[in-house]
Amino acid sequence: MVADVIVETADTSTLVLFTGNDRLDYRAGHFLTIDPHQFEALDRFTSFLEYLKGRPEPPRAYSMCSAPHERYLAVTVKEERFVPKVTKYPPLLSPLLVKRTVRGMRLVVTGFTGPYTLPPDITSKTDHIVHVCAGSGSVPNVSILKYALENHPTLRHTFVYSNKTWDDVIFRDLLTELAARHPDRLKVVHTLTREDNESLFGPSVRKGRLDDKLLREMIPDPTAPIVYLCGPGISKWDREAARESGTEPQPRFIESVLTNLRAIGVPDGRIKRESYG
Ligand SMILES: Cc1cc2nc3c(=O)[nH]c(=O)nc-3n(C[C@H](O)[C@H](O)[C@H](O)COP(=O)(O)OP(=O)(O)OC[C@H]3O[C@@H](n4cnc5c(N)ncnc54)[C@H](O)[C@@H]3O)c2cc1C
Repeated sequence: MVADVIVETADTSTLVLFTGNDRLDYRAGHFLTIDPHQFEALDRFTSFLEYLKGRPEPPRAYSMCSAPHERYLAVTVKEERFVPKVTKYPPLLSPLLVKRTVRGMRLVVTGFTGPYTLPPDITSKTDHIVHVCAGSGSVPNVSILKYALENHPTLRHTFVYSNKTWDDVIFRDLLTELAARHPDRLKVVHTLTREDNESLFGPSVRKGRLDDKLLREMIPDPTAPIVYLCGPGISKWDREAARESGTEPQPRFIESVLTNLRAIGVPDGRIKRESYG
């Protein structure tokens, strides 16, 4: 049952879910899935999209922003947009979850799964986790961060978070609060690509794209930390569209940060990634 809906930004909400008193057996970084067929309000739209696409609509994955030690399960969803001539179809589920979900509503979630978690022996591999995220890619990293701050006292974290504007930053207050509570263990650096308010910029809010210069500053010894990278990546639809037009798909956040991380010398084996393509 939806216990609360927290509006994070204009297009992003956190759904706090009450699941009864059973112990929730999930790991920080896991995701759950939500099947759009359960929502009567979407029935006609789902059938129409299935008719157009010629295949059933699959369940959508949503990472937990909550951590296993917390009382409630929570997911944070960013609404996708239909952009004429850019996106092929209007998004099905995220607009409903973000804009039309209210307290008391019941929904069926399935889970929990996913490889984007800390290995149990993480502290023997590193004492520094670098989180590199964009948009809703921060969701599993916030779960991992909260879990690790609580359970792995020898780990410190650098959280590099890319967004368009200051108002797009999800978990802004939470990240500030965690950094204030753990000044020796957490450093948060935002980077904003389309922010006009110059007064926001300083050491912890940078202007522009996440590039190799900023990554080199955050990762002075590239073989020491383990990087958790999450955000938009090339989707199978992007690959299909590129194949049809005889071009290469354009790199998105995941691909361009991977190139930058490799350029500064971070070994592939020390990069964990989750792509929201
Ligand atoms: C492991 C994982 C974890 C995730 N966690 C989160 C999270 O924590 N928060 C979050 O907000 N999102 C998360 N996502 C993304 C989420 O699962 C959905 O993809 C997102 O919410 C969009 O779903 P939608 O139904 O609104 O849009 P969709 O209906 O899936 O449409 C999205 C895009 O795909 C295109 N598309 C869809 N079907 C086709 C087709 N047949 N052919 C061509 N193009 C097509 C559409 O044109 C549109 O541009 C995660 C994804 C993964 C894989």
